[in-house]
Amino acid sequence: MTTMTSHPAEDALLREIEGRRDELVALTQALIRFPTVNPPGDAYRPCAEHLGERLRKRGFAVEYVRAEGAPGDSDERPRINVIARYEGARPGPCVHFNSHIDVVEAGEGWTVPPFEGVVKDGKVYGRGACDMKGGLAASVIAVEALIDSGIQLPGALEISGTADEESGGYGGVAYLAERGYFSRPRVDHVIIPEPLNVDRVCIGHRGVWWSEITTEGRIAHGSMPFLGDSAVRHMGAVLEELERRIFPTLGGQPTRMPVVPEGARTPTLNINSIHGGQADASGEGLPSPVVPDSCRIVLDRRLLIEEDLDEVKAQMRGVLDGLVQTRPNFRYKLRDLFEVRPTMTDPDRAVVRMTCEAVEQVLGRPAQICCSPGTYDQKHIDRIGRLRDCIAYGPGSLDLAHTPDEWVGIDDMVASARVMALAAYALLTGRA
Ligand SMILES: [Zn+2]
Repeated sequence: MTTMTSHPAEDALLREIEGRRDELVALTQALIRFPTVNPPGDAYRPCAEHLGERLRKRGFAVEYVRAEGAPGDSDERPRINVIARYEGARPGPCVHFNSHIDVVEAGEGWTVPPFEGVVKDGKVYGRGACDMKGGLAASVIAVEALIDSGIQLPGALEISGTADEESGGYGGVAYLAERGYFSRPRVDHVIIPEPLNVDRVCIGHRGVWWSEITTEGRIAHGSMPFLGDSAVRHMGAVLEELERRIFPTLGGQPTRMPVVPEGARTPTLNINSIHGGQADASGEGLPSPVVPDSCRIVLDRRLLIEEDLDEVKAQMRGVLDGLVQTRPNFRYKLRDLFEVRPTMTDPDRAVVRMTCEAVEQVLGRPAQICCSPGTYDQKHIDRIGRLRDCIAYGPGSLDLAHTPDEWVGIDDMVASARVMALAAYALLTGRA
């Protein structure tokens, strides 16, 4: 601890968490050992039950909710979510810590086994170590220490382990939000321990619009292309227009979203893929000699809070309609694939202020308020749960998420557990 507080109860709480360092590491390792890889969504049940059983023994009311009918849900791979609630000594607000239990596939390039939770040089390694089983473990230790501190707490504390964040959260937080788990009066403040770094409080994320543009042509023999009409050449014209009329408009608009890294403080556009013509049998042989009659690109447009999604879509349609006017035989289809509106919690909300204060108290330096370039489950808590008091705060670095040799620092986990405990204590007792 770098800063002593003047509140004896808080000092005792911080010491209590330091004393649970080994337990925090062990819990992180245990969680990493469940290979909850998504897709397809493996091992959700044993992971959720590990968490649920631990908390049940400590006096939590534990519920398991299967997201029946959600994408990917099946008897073989049920989308199991766990929600645990601890009632305080008297009525009061509820602070909820939500973590996703799923991880992305391990992929190549590991120098340690990805699902063993190897501990080395003050770090826990493994798929999901930082994104976000380390954060989940830190929230569990924080809440348990708070309960065991003997402080008479008002209100309630909740911890959830939810499915499918990596594939959009429909079998996880979205499903639960539709059933009232992330709304008042049940819940007042939500902290999501995503790996934004131990000194950063993340108040929201940019929006997303994924779309597909298809150009159409007319098939003909490749030796006589003049008899056909090339969809790939039409797509070439689309790409030129994106360079000329869309990309130059993305920079330079000021935003009040403190997105990190700073490069993401503008709207961005990525062309995720392009495909035209006959399928190329991946290196074996060549595509057939025909004029391609269709070509498809998938676009990933990220939006700032100041932007209107309908206007963004209209801009794209305007560019394509312009080509219809100027380019002979140009035809296109524009299809929405996926969209999420930007979300940002007001920095004056208690959950933001109390967590920032706790960061300063634990680390001895001010917290940085930020927004995430990509989305996470806050979108569902905002849109479906209609709860505006939500942040992401947790240990680990987003740069390590989804990479080989992913790790989380043990000191950072301990520090973030202390921050979470202090923030929850302040929010419950209204010390604000
Ligand atoms: Zn995550």
